[in-house]
This record gives sequence, C-alpha cells and structure tokens, in this order.
Amino acid sequence: MAAQKVVLVTGGMGGLGETISTKMADAGYKVVVTYSPGNTKHAEWVADMKKRGYDIMAVPCDVADYDSCTKAVAEVQAKAGAVDVLVNNAGITRDTTFKKMDKVNWDAVIRTNLDSLFNMTKQVADGMVERGWGRILNISSVNGSKGAFGQTNYSAAKAGVHGFTKALALEVAKKGVTVNTISPGYIGTKMVTAIPKEVLDTKILPQIPVGRLGKPEEVAGLVIYLASEEAAFLTGANIAINGGQHMQ
Ligand code: NDP
Repeated sequence: MAAQKVVLVTGGMGGLGETISTKMADAGYKVVVTYSPGNTKHAEWVADMKKRGYDIMAVPCDVADYDSCTKAVAEVQAKAGAVDVLVNNAGITRDTTFKKMDKVNWDAVIRTNLDSLFNMTKQVADGMVERGWGRILNISSVNGSKGAFGQTNYSAAKAGVHGFTKALALEVAKKGVTVNTISPGYIGTKMVTAIPKEVLDTKILPQIPVGRLGKPEEVAGLVIYLASEEAAFLTGANIAINGGQHMQ
C-alpha cells in the first residue's frame, strides 16, 4: 500500500481551511494545519475535530514571518513526515479605499497573502523536487483577477499569487511537482458572511450568475482533484471557482 500522503494546510482552522482539511482527511491524507500564534482556540479546535473523528495535527505559524514558517515546517516534518501537498490558504483582508489605505494595512495584507507563499513554499519545494512528487496549491481570489473596490492591497497580493504560481510551475514541472492557483469567488465562510446582509443581497449575489454563494466543500473538491495523481498534467493554471461571476 502506498504511504499516506501528508498535506499541510495553512490557516486550516478557518472557514475554507477547515473544510479543505476534513475533506482531505476523508480522502485519506494525513492532515496538518497551521494556526496563528495568537489563536487562543487552537486546542479547542483540535479537540472538536477529534470528537468528529478527525486526528488533525496543528502547529502555530505566522505565515507572514519567515522564521516562524521555518520552525513550523521543521516540526511538521519531524512529527508527521515530509510534506507532499502544501495548500497556501491563510489570508486576511484589510479593506479600505486607496485614499484611506495606510501602510500598516497595505503591508499586513501583502505579507500575509503574498510573502507567505515564499515563506511556506521555500520550506517544502526542494524536498518535493528531490522526491519527484509534490503539489503546491495557492488560494487566490476572484478579486485578484478582476480587482475590487476597496481592495488595492488584497487584489495586488492575490494577483501576485498567480504570478508566483506560473513562475514556480515552470521551474519544477519536470520534477513531478505541480503548482496551481485556485481563485474562489464569494464562498460562504465567515470572511464573507461578515459582510452586512444588505450588501450581500443587493451588491454581491446579483453579480453571481449561479445565484448563490459558493460552498467550502466545492473548493475542497477542487483541492482534492488538483492534489491527485490524475491532475499530474495540470500545472501553472489559475482555476476560477466563482459561480460564473468572472470569466477570464
Ligand atoms: P478565514 O478568515 O475563515 O480564515 C483565514 C485563515 O487564515 C484563518 O485560519 C487564520 O488563522 C489564517 N491566518 C490569517 N493570518 C495568518 C497569519 N499571519 N499566519 C497564519 N495564519 C493566518 O477566511 P477563509 O477561510 O474564507 O479564506 C481562506 C482563503 O481563501 C484566504 O486566502 C482568502 O483570501 C481566500 N478566499 C476566500 C474567499 C471567501 O469567499 N471566503 C473568496 C476568495 C478567496 P487563525 O484563525 O489562526 O488566525
């Protein structure tokens, strides 16, 4: 029997990350998640998962900080084994118009959503290449492709995600390692349900031809496919999963 593959999901306790993690566990992966060092509910989350039948390892990691990522991935490798699939999922928004955007909110979003790709991928890419197999999945956003009012920081970071994907995909293509971007539209996680209902109903839902928010399970299904053997010929792609909201 083939060894159980290890998947590392950054921000794996978040809205999308949790569903990606449980669905990957259901698909037979050994799942490890990262949480922010400031997250006081991590032990509760792990215990909750245990009750649901999931044995998920969790390590603290500030994805915006290189040294924190080095330490976290070393712990993962020592306790769970080499990382076969990396899902760069952790992300934040700090929305405001460019006129009001300050350097703090610009830097926070770029560091967490874009620098994190370097910080995390650097820890695992060489090992994947040496072993001749790996999957790197970078979660971007529809707003990285189409732009969004009040999101110069987020749109810039999320557009940068796909530039990273394409360049790295070229470098590791011959080594059995694929690198892809997933660009979700509006998915019903707390990042989106925090938007006032009136704004959701009048501004957001009318933009989505499918007529509803996406489900985290739908994004997790795509992650599982991209991580699979069958997806070995698919690399450097930016897959939109947005209910038809934006067609490239
Ligand atoms: P959540 O806010 O629910 O989760 C975000 C996760 O990121 C949390 O688990 C959080 O960890 C983690 N995180 C934030 N900052 C850091 C940090 N510095 N270091 C480590 N972890 C951090 O958001 P979603 O699940 O909705 O979003 C997941 C990804 O999907 C993001 O990249 C987002 O941009 C993207 N996306 C989401 C869409 C949506 O509609 N929901 C649409 C398009 C893209 P902790 O809780 O421990 O702080």
